[in-house]
Amino acid sequence: MAKVIFPVSLLEPIKQFLHLEERKLSKRKKDLDEQDPFNDRERVVDNAAVDTDASEQFGHATVEGLKREVDRKLIQVRKALTRIKLGKYGTCEKCGEMIDTDRLMVFPEATMCVKCEKKKEK
Ligand SMILES: [Zn+2]
Repeated sequence: MAKVIFPVSLLEPIKQFLHLEERKLSKRKKDLDEQDPFNDRERVVDNAAVDTDASEQFGHATVEGLKREVDRKLIQVRKALTRIKLGKYGTCEKCGEMIDTDRLMVFPEATMCVKCEKKKEK
């Protein structure tokens, strides 16, 4: 199999994009932490009305869901950055095949080719 190297001219903007993405996601995670009603230290637990409780529960669940989403993306972005460092960006971490450049343009954080991604989802 021929060694495929991702074009350096494309690598630099992608690296910058991913770094920016990482910073944005880290900040978003922090913002979400602050939004979580369960993190509110002023919260009065004993006298909380049922309504307040329910909305806090809901708020907490929403924030948790968003945080998980942000976390997942953050891990993916970091993984892609690691692959750039290793010089393996653009190749699938599972099968080693070249990832479709069109796919990378849409998902620069992709570390798996479409085929392997689909297999994983099943
Ligand atoms: Zn693959």
